Amino acid sequence: MTPEEFRRHGHEVVDWIADYWTRLPGLPVRSPVAPGDVRALLPDAAPERGEPLSAVLADLDRVVVPGLTHWQHPGFFGYFPANTSGPSVLGDLVSAGLGVQGMSWVTSPAATELEQHVLDWFADLLGLPASFRSSGAGGGVLQDSSSGANLVALLAALHRASGGTTVRHGVVPEEYTVYVSAETHSSMEKAVRVAGLGSDAVRIVEVDYDLAMRPAALAARLERDVARGLKPVLVCATVGTTSTTAVDPLAELGPICQRFGVWLHVDAAYAGVSGLVPELRPLQDGVEWADSYTTDAHKWLLTGFDATLFWVADRAALTGALAILPEYLRNAATDAGAVVDYRDWQIELGRRFRALKLWFVVRWYGAEGLRAHIRSGVALADELARWAEADERFDVATAHPLSLVCLRPRWADDVDADVATMTLLERLNDGGEVFLTHTTVRGAVVLRVAVGAPTTTRTHVERAWQLLAENHDWLSRDFAE
Ligand code: PLP
Repeated sequence: MTPEEFRRHGHEVVDWIADYWTRLPGLPVRSPVAPGDVRALLPDAAPERGEPLSAVLADLDRVVVPGLTHWQHPGFFGYFPANTSGPSVLGDLVSAGLGVQGMSWVTSPAATELEQHVLDWFADLLGLPASFRSSGAGGGVLQDSSSGANLVALLAALHRASGGTTVRHGVVPEEYTVYVSAETHSSMEKAVRVAGLGSDAVRIVEVDYDLAMRPAALAARLERDVARGLKPVLVCATVGTTSTTAVDPLAELGPICQRFGVWLHVDAAYAGVSGLVPELRPLQDGVEWADSYTTDAHKWLLTGFDATLFWVADRAALTGALAILPEYLRNAATDAGAVVDYRDWQIELGRRFRALKLWFVVRWYGAEGLRAHIRSGVALADELARWAEADERFDVATAHPLSLVCLRPRWADDVDADVATMTLLERLNDGGEVFLTHTTVRGAVVLRVAVGAPTTTRTHVERAWQLLAENHDWLSRDFAE
């Protein structure tokens, strides 16, 4: 493809995406296809001869779009949002067009320095501790996911806890312990497995009624484990748990971690970006105790997957765990210790120029525009919660500090509430106008309504509420017959 052909087809592709965004509201949010339907539309063998781009675009409509669940749809209320936006897509396009590989500073200095700079901007914007800034002992880096960030946080913590010996000797699985709650994201347990510790290393600390980790229970567990000769490595505190957006109390957990010399990792994958908004910062009080912190711009900050912002207070622990310098990567800047080589901050060697899309996003919207997006999600969720609280058909199952509301429908006494709630969910999702997911809270199934897709407005939340109420009425009548 010549540059001129690229220009022509590039315009067609951008037109196709803009048209897709325009027609999104008319598409069913959840893909209606059955397993195998998409593959059945594809030829058995790869094309022998090249095809015109128009044929590929036609197949996007014929094969791909029907097989999509539309995460950017204004009726998407499932899981957590996975925002994208025009500036994010354009930033990614530039990154793809440049095609640079930023594994070391020298392989493309702008890729490293723009990333460092944008991460410093965001540390300030989110109200994170000065220790996370690249001018001090710490620094920020873009990871592919919070799952990846949780893993590298654990590796850095292991490096520190072992006095650096894991690099040479690996870990002694029976020796080290990691502290989570039952509400911690499963990626932390996966990180423990990948690090070679095994599931016995995972200590599940009790939560309180609001599903937040209990500091006293953490302290008791740490005391017991230390007395048994074990080495506590890391406590994973969550700001905004996946299930319900519960918040572990950082200000109380931090001093306990310090007392036991344990690494405090804060997983704020979804909720961390809310720190942009001053009135929401108290949720993260105590963040200054954190040794590391992760939040995803690709969830709620108008930036397409993948864009995980990850900071450490002491970058030496991270690079101590991960740095390897084979001869072919040696260069004067690295040898002089004058630069950051991001390959030493992550699992992979190679890395895309991810910072570009975040830079495009923050420059297009400004901090003000990003704050408006967060505030709108929180306000809409709050309104939904108030409608539900005032309605005898629903209970609000948990606190809703951000843009997720967990609703527990009420049913007649002789109805199995969990089955009825799942039936309600299926009816809503089959309808195609909205998409919700579920979780369990204190043993009962609840519906999660996660507001935050870029084009969701009050009208869409009102419609979701109307559909919830109508379908509840129909089902209640069905059950009564
Ligand atoms: N941590 C928390 C608290 C999450 O809610 C999630 C996903 O929802 C993750 C980690 C994993 O995020 P990612 O998809 O970026 O790996």
